[in-house]
Amino acid sequence: MFDFAVYYPENHGALLGAKRASTDMIPCAVAAGYSPDICSYLTSDIGAYLKGFTPLAAAYGFKAIPRPDVIVFNNNQCREVQDWFMFFARHWRVPIIGVNSPRVIGGVKSCQIQDVVSQLMDLIPTLEAVSGRKFDMDKLKEVVRLSKACTERWRKTLEFSCLSPAPMTFFDHCIHMGPAVLLRGAKDAVEYYDDLIDALKELSREKIAAVPGERFRIYWDGMPIWGKLSKLSKLFSEERTAIVASTYCNSWIFDSLDPDNPFESMARASLECFNVRDETFKEGYIRSWVERCDVHGIIFHDAKTCPYNTNSRFAMPRRLERELGVPTLVIHGDLNDLRLFSEEQTVTNIQAFVEQLHESRG
Ligand code: SF4
Repeated sequence: MFDFAVYYPENHGALLGAKRASTDMIPCAVAAGYSPDICSYLTSDIGAYLKGFTPLAAAYGFKAIPRPDVIVFNNNQCREVQDWFMFFARHWRVPIIGVNSPRVIGGVKSCQIQDVVSQLMDLIPTLEAVSGRKFDMDKLKEVVRLSKACTERWRKTLEFSCLSPAPMTFFDHCIHMGPAVLLRGAKDAVEYYDDLIDALKELSREKIAAVPGERFRIYWDGMPIWGKLSKLSKLFSEERTAIVASTYCNSWIFDSLDPDNPFESMARASLECFNVRDETFKEGYIRSWVERCDVHGIIFHDAKTCPYNTNSRFAMPRRLERELGVPTLVIHGDLNDLRLFSEEQTVTNIQAFVEQLHESRG
């Protein structure tokens, strides 16, 4: 829309985590007054900016992250996003606009949808003024149509892992979700998933397992530990245990998008996000994937700096254990700040958990 090229600071944050660069960046943000206890995407990203570092330099020759003409936020997932983007708005003196969303909701009510619809419409005058282009409803419908096509294919991609053996795991999902996150609304993303789905059909026809000799199937709740994806992927593979579904990678499924009703459906899709919902909804959601994917155990990642994507702090693991009869494990770590993650302890806990699955399933 409006022909803006879109840049997402969250993805830069994840990139810093995956490159294991965050630990060197966070202290710069802390020195500028940001608490080490808040989102480590935020502190990594602001720290990297203050330090003059970006992994995009080595990858694409960027001198620095791009300076925006306008900044847009939606705080449906957390307050951090708004405060984070405010740093750049103040720094570059560019306009910042956004959607203030209700949170911790159960069912999505029409008054909440109307509230978000009117906030989305309120963005238009600023976007028109900055871009110099008029809002074009047909263009929006086309972007929503392509977003819907992308999200349907992403759902289908993830559902392949419900097959036994799973042809992909959570660690593959964390990589392949790239187009659904960054290119939703573009034709390239749709084509990417069409190719991936063809490859997955072939793998499942041949019963090729992502984890050879798959014994156990796990659901992962919470953020990835970006700097440890490879280590953990190897560990689970050695344990012949596949993480077949996750709350995190499912977050880019937006079933409600409807090109014939773009504003209302975008509002509904943003309000239906897992992070926005209350504990009762979240438990029902996890239950449905555990049942659909024949899951044997659930791992909750308690990410120290992201309470919003951490669901183990209010006894949800105990409730799900009782209700579903599947064991749960809480591991303590963080999305980016590896100083908050004990590899030795986590490996021991995961190995003991798999042993417990082995004993309980005979
Ligand atoms: S949801 Fe968590 S990880 Fe994402 S921006 Fe908010 S605090 Fe950071």
